[in-house]
Amino acid sequence: MTDPTHALTIDTFALGPFETNCYLVRAGEACWVIDAGFGPAPMLDRLGAERAAPDAIILTHAHADHIAGLGEARRAFPDTPILVHRAEAEFLTDPVLNLSAGFGAAVTAPPADRLLDGGETIALGPTSWRVLHTPGHSPGGISLVCDEAGVAFVGDTLFAGSIGRFDFPTSDEALLMRSIRRTLYALPGETRVLPGHGPPTTIAHERETNPFVRG
Ligand SMILES: [Zn+2]
Ligand SMILES: [Zn+2]
Repeated sequence: MTDPTHALTIDTFALGPFETNCYLVRAGEACWVIDAGFGPAPMLDRLGAERAAPDAIILTHAHADHIAGLGEARRAFPDTPILVHRAEAEFLTDPVLNLSAGFGAAVTAPPADRLLDGGETIALGPTSWRVLHTPGHSPGGISLVCDEAGVAFVGDTLFAGSIGRFDFPTSDEALLMRSIRRTLYALPGETRVLPGHGPPTTIAHERETNPFVRG
């Protein structure tokens, strides 16, 4: 989708067996990768074809299906920093924490280059993005919100018609509910929501119809 006002371009790649959304976000000459799951070649090929190097790889959280492609991405773009919330720094190198040990195929990834706490504002070209800490599905889940463009990347916190799982050892149901109700549902209704799996939705649509958490 393209937002002509802010020249924001977003390409979505549903990667691997969990169809984890990997997003290429561009504004001006700047580019981010958001999450890099299993089999990132389609996304890396797109960047290669455009001779574009991402300015950062930002992780909504560090479960295996969102980080399994980081090694390949790092080989393709050795200078691109990886950003993750501080609470999940160790998930990158620990298959128990990133849940891959449970699948029988241990996933590890390069360590992060910069740790986020939530509350930061980071620039992508001419656009600015707020980092919101939205824990619950995982302890260091973040959402990235561009207020001018009305776009929010929410990872596995909120989906179209569903919410993130909260039955993992590092999940917290009460925190997940609070992140959705107090943080995400507080965004303007027209905000486009781009989740970690499945199709996009809007804040208003989920507040009104989400069967798990009503606004
Ligand atoms: Zn997850
Ligand atoms: Zn996921």
